[in-house]
Amino acid sequence: MASIPLFNPKAQYGPLLPELKERMGAVLDGGRFILGPEVRAFEDEAAAFLGVPQTIGVANGTDAISLVLNALGIGAGDEVICPAFTFYATAEPIAQRGAVPVFADVDPVTLNLDPADAARRVTERTKAILPVHLFGRPAPLGELTGLGMPVVEDAAQAFGAEGIATTGVASTFSFYPTKNLGALGDGGLVSVTDEELGERIRLLRFHGSRDKRDFQLVGYNSRLDELQAAALRVFLPHVAEWNRLRREAALRYAELGLGELVELPPDDGRHVYHLFVVRTPERDRVRAALDEAGIGCASYYVTPLHLQPALAYLGYEAGSLPETERASRENLALPLWPGIEPAAQERVVGAVRSAVRERVPS
Ligand SMILES: *Cc1c(COP(=O)(O)O)cnc(C)c1O
Repeated sequence: MASIPLFNPKAQYGPLLPELKERMGAVLDGGRFILGPEVRAFEDEAAAFLGVPQTIGVANGTDAISLVLNALGIGAGDEVICPAFTFYATAEPIAQRGAVPVFADVDPVTLNLDPADAARRVTERTKAILPVHLFGRPAPLGELTGLGMPVVEDAAQAFGAEGIATTGVASTFSFYPTKNLGALGDGGLVSVTDEELGERIRLLRFHGSRDKRDFQLVGYNSRLDELQAAALRVFLPHVAEWNRLRREAALRYAELGLGELVELPPDDGRHVYHLFVVRTPERDRVRAALDEAGIGCASYYVTPLHLQPALAYLGYEAGSLPETERASRENLALPLWPGIEPAAQERVVGAVRSAVRERVPS
């Protein structure tokens, strides 16, 4: 039987190949590759889509976070509260700026930053809260904003989710090819709710200079390029429909009875399912069964950030973030992409069923 991948980006961009070739070909004909009309137009279109005053195209989602922290003046000795159940790139820019990532635990149901635990970790050195819209589910921005600190949203996994990017001072996006809005290589975006912060980030992304002669800030070289922007402009009008199809596929897993076997990600009506991640204490057994059946699956953040070797200097011990560590042990992402065939989903559910005992309803 044919194998089923975990992701299938080509199912998204395949039907758009003729248009992609035309628009990217026009960039080749024009001969302008860095910070030209495609990037500017994409920034405007993305700002309109997100409902924010401005966006800034950058090289990737990691730089996007670093640029925002820099523009906010966050550096040595400052603390930034973030989750440990996320990709390393959420916390790395904090540490790289000489600031201290302060890890708060996650909510066991949503797997997003737990506002109560975040509140307990606020000190006079806290300069920002950096929640992640994990796997595509919006974090509880209202409660986090209530902590009285600038909120920077790591929205790398949630492009197009409702209710994001308009609350925090800035939001960061990644266009890594498997993200909900993916480029054909690396790319990233910062959106801001404050124009002045946006202008500072715009300056920082190009060496702190407007004209290549006068350098006003010690900045970065971090730009979205014209070819990627041209591709992203082809994809942007489709992302809402892609997200609708992702949600449809996620709800179908529930209809197929997957919830009797493993714990499903509870749907909040806004989740855009960058990843469809279930939980089960029998995770390794299920994963082995899916591997055996040629079904793509993966466990994310198996070593959470507070236990990563590079961050050992922060002094966290195993057991210090219990819900984070349980999520690391129990999570399993199952195949999902816009337009995944129902027959493929039935096979996935069948393979999970063969691996687990019936779940006792809690
Ligand atoms: C993908 C991702 C990033 C980093 O984006 P890159 O474009 O790969 O640099 C940051 N945070 C989260 C949560 C991500 O999923």
